[in-house]
Amino acid sequence: MTSCAGMPPPLPMRYADLHTHTYHSDGTRSPKEVIDVARAAGLGIVAISDHDNLAAYFEIRDYAVSQDILLIPATELSCGWRGADIHLLAYAFDPLDEHLERRLGHFRETRQSRGQAMIAKLRAAGYPVRSERVEELAGGGSMGRPHLARALVEAGHAASVQDAFTRLLRPGTPGYVEKERFDIEEAVAIVRSAGGVTSVAHPTLYPNHEKLLPEILEMGVDAIEVLHPQVSEGARKHYAELARSRGRFTTGGSDDHGTVKEKETLGTIRVPEEWIPAILERME
Ligand code: AMP
Ligand code: FE
Ligand code: FE
Ligand code: ZN
Repeated sequence: MTSCAGMPPPLPMRYADLHTHTYHSDGTRSPKEVIDVARAAGLGIVAISDHDNLAAYFEIRDYAVSQDILLIPATELSCGWRGADIHLLAYAFDPLDEHLERRLGHFRETRQSRGQAMIAKLRAAGYPVRSERVEELAGGGSMGRPHLARALVEAGHAASVQDAFTRLLRPGTPGYVEKERFDIEEAVAIVRSAGGVTSVAHPTLYPNHEKLLPEILEMGVDAIEVLHPQVSEGARKHYAELARSRGRFTTGGSDDHGTVKEKETLGTIRVPEEWIPAILERME
């Protein structure tokens, strides 16, 4: 009989949620709650991908270590491409990279002025909300339409966040103002120079996505987010095959925003760690 003495037992496979939001952008959960709920759901790897900011990472990294959760530096960047708003998830970059932080700071500022412009348009259209309240809901983080939606609901102008988006906050409705966006090439280059990788978020949510996705990969994006609550199983297989055929990898995440969206999804998506060596090796 051969002996296995001296061989450590294999570690159990860990699972990741690589797409979550907190109240530092447009979610409702605290960073601690994200860690706690993820851990209770059996996840071992978490990325908090707040729009345009890393506040949650710095706030909760020590706690994550204490809870045996591998916390990946992450953010979600809005990019403009052929008229579409393409979201790129960035992972495992140096969170202290100055160039990245300067660009994120710029986009946080433009979110602030765009938020004020939307408040003014809403007021002119007969849907006044208090700008102090919107600021408060944004909590000093990245202001976005979900904060305006919540303020509209509180002021009695909309029945729900969804209703506020449909009637007042979508392009073509009275409250909408365009947002300044990254170029995809610039986003890819900045993240890469900070040592990280990028993944196209929720690939099926863009108009004409079947044509767009191959073009986006051509621009140097490293992965596709194929596991997401709004990506069907058929689309998951299709985009996993596209990623594989182009030498790219696949990621996944719950895109949980707490109670802002219709469903709380934290804990429902489990990405096997073997999908993401490109992220894990950057964390060593
Ligand atoms: P913004 O970046 O300010 O343009 O806001 C975009 C964010 O609004 C997305 O990241 C989603 O979290 C959220 N969002 C977009 N469309 C909807 C919708 N129809 N209902 C609820 N939330 C939405
Ligand atoms: Fe969001
Ligand atoms: Fe997104
Ligand atoms: Zn997101």
